[in-house]
Amino acid sequence: MKKATNSALMRRKNEKLVLSMIYKAPISRVEIAKKTGLTKAAITFIVDDLMSRGILLETDGQSETVGRNPKMLSLNGDAFYVIGINITRHHVAVGIMNLAGKMVSSDYFSLCECNKTLAKIKHSVEEQMKTAKVPKEKIYKGAVVTPGPVDIENGMILNPPNFNEWHHFPIVSELTQLLGVPFVFENVSSATALSEKLFGAAIGTENFLALRVDEGIGSGIVLDDVLFRGPCELGHISISYDGKPCECGNRGCMEKYAAIPAILDGTPYQSWQEVVDADDETLMKKEAEYLSCGIVSANNIFSFDKIVLCGDLSYRAGKLVSFVSDAVRNKMLTGKYPIVSTGAVSSRHKIAAAVAIYDLIS
Ligand SMILES: [Zn+2]
Repeated sequence: MKKATNSALMRRKNEKLVLSMIYKAPISRVEIAKKTGLTKAAITFIVDDLMSRGILLETDGQSETVGRNPKMLSLNGDAFYVIGINITRHHVAVGIMNLAGKMVSSDYFSLCECNKTLAKIKHSVEEQMKTAKVPKEKIYKGAVVTPGPVDIENGMILNPPNFNEWHHFPIVSELTQLLGVPFVFENVSSATALSEKLFGAAIGTENFLALRVDEGIGSGIVLDDVLFRGPCELGHISISYDGKPCECGNRGCMEKYAAIPAILDGTPYQSWQEVVDADDETLMKKEAEYLSCGIVSANNIFSFDKIVLCGDLSYRAGKLVSFVSDAVRNKMLTGKYPIVSTGAVSSRHKIAAAVAIYDLIS
């Protein structure tokens, strides 16, 4: 029994490995063998199975050798779909996306009382499946995203601030039962990192930090192409040992200085957008200094290739990116500087759905 389970797990792991190669770009069987180290027989077995399930397509590729065009394997985007549900502190985004990352349907409504919100989610999903003509058997998985902290293993929201009604709510089992499809779960910052990796500013980047700055500061980290599942509380890295006290028990947490309400405190601005529109370089440089302290602390451990700024702070962020980049360089010991950029995925639906696609290939 144990042997059979191990063999099934190994098969699923190899299937994910093959799918992750094909997801990046169309590729031949020979290239998959070279990049994964899997045997030709193992690849044939996995590919035949995926093709029989309609997940892969085979086309003639281009070859420099006349008469020897390799068969290229690519993903059949419309073979399956995923549901993405992003529950924020004020709104719920519900959408359906195909495997190739195209949103085929979406809906957005205000967050209300817990049970009413679940009923609205069910209604929204059912209506979207009807209008987009996506039958239930074509749904690969659903993904739900909420503010953190969350317990991924047990599918439970823990105790995110200003989210009291959902504290200790078993979101994965509730949605699985409600909609009759399996669900995966992430906190919004990790989901943001995955969406940037699959569809946005971090495609092809193996080591990066996605830093979400809005009402608070959240972070998602990808190392060697894999989502880091540690605590990732970069907002609570101290940038001043005797600084402002924080609810977490520490002092001088970056969030107390660089989250949007903190940086706007004592200024005439109501939003970060107003700061950028007023071209207030002094405040932008101050924000860059705060952020660079936290970024460099994390970078001194992980050595990122890229830092992706997301959330409210990514509004027209050309100048801020350059200020953060300079501030990071000024504080670094080594010469390998990470590239600083802004995120490219703003759709909350897509951020959630990315979690289900990541589950397919990793
Ligand atoms: Zn703190």
